[in-house]
Amino acid sequence: MDTDVLIAGAGPTGMTVANELRLAGVSTVLADQLSQRSELSRAGGVQSRTLEALDQRGLLEPLLATGNYPAATGHFAGIALSADHARQRLPWRSVPQVKIEEFFEHHLAAHGIHVRRDHQLTGLAQDEHGVTATFAHGATIRCRYLVAADGAHSTVRSLLRAEFPGRPGTATVIAADVRLSGAEGVASHTWSDDGQWVALFPLGTDPQGRPLRRLVLGGPGAPSRDVPVTEDEIREGLRAVFGTGVRLLELRYGRRISNAARQAARYRHGRVFLAGDAAHVHLPLGAQGMNTGMQDAFNLGWKLGAAVHGWAPEDLLDTYHTERHPAGAAVLRNVMAQSLLMDWTGAREPETAAVREIFSDLVRLPNVQHYLADLQSGMAIRYPMPGTDDHPLVGRPSPDLGLGPVRVHELLRSGRGVLLDPDGTFAKVADLWSDRVDRAGQGADVEPMLIRPDGYVVWAGHADDLEPALTRWFGEGRGTGPRGLRVSRP
Ligand SMILES: Cc1cc2nc3c(=O)[nH]c(=O)nc-3n(C[C@H](O)[C@H](O)[C@H](O)COP(=O)(O)OP(=O)(O)OC[C@H]3O[C@@H](n4cnc5c(N)ncnc54)[C@H](O)[C@@H]3O)c2cc1C
Repeated sequence: MDTDVLIAGAGPTGMTVANELRLAGVSTVLADQLSQRSELSRAGGVQSRTLEALDQRGLLEPLLATGNYPAATGHFAGIALSADHARQRLPWRSVPQVKIEEFFEHHLAAHGIHVRRDHQLTGLAQDEHGVTATFAHGATIRCRYLVAADGAHSTVRSLLRAEFPGRPGTATVIAADVRLSGAEGVASHTWSDDGQWVALFPLGTDPQGRPLRRLVLGGPGAPSRDVPVTEDEIREGLRAVFGTGVRLLELRYGRRISNAARQAARYRHGRVFLAGDAAHVHLPLGAQGMNTGMQDAFNLGWKLGAAVHGWAPEDLLDTYHTERHPAGAAVLRNVMAQSLLMDWTGAREPETAAVREIFSDLVRLPNVQHYLADLQSGMAIRYPMPGTDDHPLVGRPSPDLGLGPVRVHELLRSGRGVLLDPDGTFAKVADLWSDRVDRAGQGADVEPMLIRPDGYVVWAGHADDLEPALTRWFGEGRGTGPRGLRVSRP
């Protein structure tokens, strides 16, 4: 083997997987076809669950220190969700994707993982023991596992002939980074009578401190994706929607995006795993694509680490698909609902307008706001935990409980599991897994709880089924079975 894990694609998904594997002490090669990091403006927002996961790795503070990224409220189909702030510990932040990629690339380099640039994967073959990847310049890399984080047009997905069912794009809109005048106080989503519409979201400031915005402009008869975006059509669109009130001062970057919606039927193909946009594509509504990819990465990373170290239970790697596929499908569903409510194609059907009107009233109800905010932020995720999911915390992100001088999320920075044992009753059993799971929280006013390295609760309460839960997620304890392997700390 040249490396334990090869990651194809150094976007946000690939870089997050690389960092998880680094933490797990697994050798990793991160390869990308580009000769330098992309400066294309794409994602502009990081959701609560991703912020929490970054905090659980000690990366949130240093990331936020790289710029001025205000907390913002999310929206659903352009209808503001003002409840995020009150409820979520870490509400939505406007951190541009380019900043996240830059931060991760520097962080990985500081820990010895340098992106191998000009590495375009063009071929792969897998057997019982590993995967051999071939690159355009003729090099090959042999690895135990391959993570395909190579984006929406994934080469790996094509080489696998992986099923990628869904809907092809039927319409396009413009997504552009702009400076505008007269846009202060304008509703985030506005239509003209003939179906033209504009959505506006804050995108930080330019180097001179002037406000930038993401402008999305749609309506009937939009050209195909390959037609270049012009300043004139943006000016015309603004005039059609706002009259002369809002003017374009600068078009920094513009592209057309389509409403294609697809999801890989299987995320695991033997030793190859699809993650991020390689596994799911959909409209960038509600700031979810990058976030979903990064959450795929947090889910997959520690599991691959466990498999490489030899303590992974038999089906641990399969749980990547059983947990992340439903999470991705839920994102596709809410994006479809949003595109309908936003009248994305500009059809101006009266039925759609009627549904949106009623929905806008519903969204004023606090419970509806909470439901939608949780749905988009990833906080609503509940992974299936057969046999143990009757406790309300099981399958959900762990609360960030205070344990005297430390918080639970700080304990997760080791990348290991955490067992909260307030009464000190589990010392003996926990000792069998002490090479994979840290016991903490003695004397704290908390419930006993077992938390996976990715921050999800897999057991809670006083039931006597802790040992099966430890075995289920962390393999056999030392001296408890044939697979009780000792692993060294990274
Ligand atoms: C206008 C717009 C706005 C968006 N806004 C948001 C938002 O606010 N929030 C959000 O969460 N998401 C948003 N998204 C979606 C987000 O940008 C994507 O979901 C995200 O980039 C996916 O990350 P990824 O790492 O999976 O793939 P990518 O970012 O596409 O990275 C894939 C990498 O793989 C490399 N690669 C491709 N093929 C090969 C190969 N054969 N060999 C080697 N390397 C290869 C590429 O060079 C690239 O670096 C937006 C997207 C757009 C277009």
